[in-house]
Amino acid sequence: MKIKKLVQDFENKIKDIDFKYLKEYKQKENKKIFAHFPVYAPHEIFHSFDVLLLGLNGAGNEIEILYADARFGSFICSIVKSTMELGLSNRLDFIDGFFFTGICDAARNLCFVYKRNFPDKNVIFLHLPQNPETEHAIKFLESEFKRLIKNLEEMTGKRFSEDKLRESIKIHNENRKLQRKLYEIRRNEPDKLSTYELYTLLRIGNFIPVEEHNKILKEVIDYIPQREPVERDRIKVVIEGSFCEQPPFELLKLLDDVGCHILDDDFILGRRFILEDVNEDNPIYSLAEAYVKKTRYASVKHSGKKYKSKYFIENVKKLKPEAVIFMYAKFCEPGLFDYVLFKKELEKEGIPYLFLEFEEKMWNFDRIQLEIETFFESLIFV
Ligand code: SF4
Repeated sequence: MKIKKLVQDFENKIKDIDFKYLKEYKQKENKKIFAHFPVYAPHEIFHSFDVLLLGLNGAGNEIEILYADARFGSFICSIVKSTMELGLSNRLDFIDGFFFTGICDAARNLCFVYKRNFPDKNVIFLHLPQNPETEHAIKFLESEFKRLIKNLEEMTGKRFSEDKLRESIKIHNENRKLQRKLYEIRRNEPDKLSTYELYTLLRIGNFIPVEEHNKILKEVIDYIPQREPVERDRIKVVIEGSFCEQPPFELLKLLDDVGCHILDDDFILGRRFILEDVNEDNPIYSLAEAYVKKTRYASVKHSGKKYKSKYFIENVKKLKPEAVIFMYAKFCEPGLFDYVLFKKELEKEGIPYLFLEFEEKMWNFDRIQLEIETFFESLIFV
């Protein structure tokens, strides 16, 4: 198996903002396609209706913003603008519907700007519980999922089936298990799997049916023990902050090149936002319960009584990195608010950290490379 070639092909597919693969898939399979904005979507519900859910992570540096600027203020993250531009440039005409949640003000506004600009499209906004620790949070989300199900019944003309949802949960549990396994491999054997490879293998799951993704991940996992290791000196780090807008591929490759041994990151949360298996019994309730009780801490999820910074520092202390690298999208409010609290926890523990900012339209990475290299030197030579 040629993982390098496989990953390069996936990168090309991910970067294709004309979505040739998906258009062909739709024509061939005659299926509906929904697009969801990060971070979270109940994939299992869409899957149980035979709807393919495209994880839309903006357009990277592949698109020129010509129209979207006029719909938003200036100080807004790139993913919101590039997602809008994809719609306004008619590249998403083949998509049957769009799914958003209120992860931040920018994403919430994007949903309603979409509704207004594309009145013929099915645009769904799902409310997530604001205080997950109240006893009503799961029931509330269950009722939101039932609203989504009613919408999908009307759109697809199909009846909801609990058995199909149970089957979808099983397939997605398998997908999460495989993703966790790949993370474990990179944590323990960084010589066998680079961050760029891991990232691309996960992100292609946003574009293809989950069954196909499971098959690819299984084959890669089975093949990895035979791979030639790429040995080099590395510094153990945890990456935090890229939970929504994604860093450019060039930046991910740079992290490998400068010797980051990444123990954990929050790239491409999507399905792996849920950390454990979802129960198959009482499936709608179980999906709601999984969001409330089994998801990773994140700047876009309210955490109730326990501060997110506590979850963050517990994770860091468990992994024992030499440093933390904060990598935030420019103008990402929820991330930058949490940065202030997260860094305080690191300072209390005496753990070094570096702050980096990226945006989709970055072309030059020299400065970031210099910053990381200088930071690593300061760790080595103290
Ligand atoms: S990058 Fe941050 S500010 Fe932008 S949509 Fe995502 S969560 Fe909101």
